[in-house]
Amino acid sequence: MFGKVKDPVCKKKIKRAEAVDTSEYEGKLYYFCSKDCKDKFEKNPSKYV
Ligand SMILES: [Zn+2]
Repeated sequence: MFGKVKDPVCKKKIKRAEAVDTSEYEGKLYYFCSKDCKDKFEKNPSKYV
């Protein structure tokens, strides 16, 4: 995996170090490529996990 994570909102694969923002949901940490993706996720996290 070498630090690659998937943005659950736009499904883009990003490097952990490149993630603009993160959010914790049900004990799991999610990484986002943009603030926009994070906002969408936080409005309705169950839609994306
Ligand atoms: Zn994204």
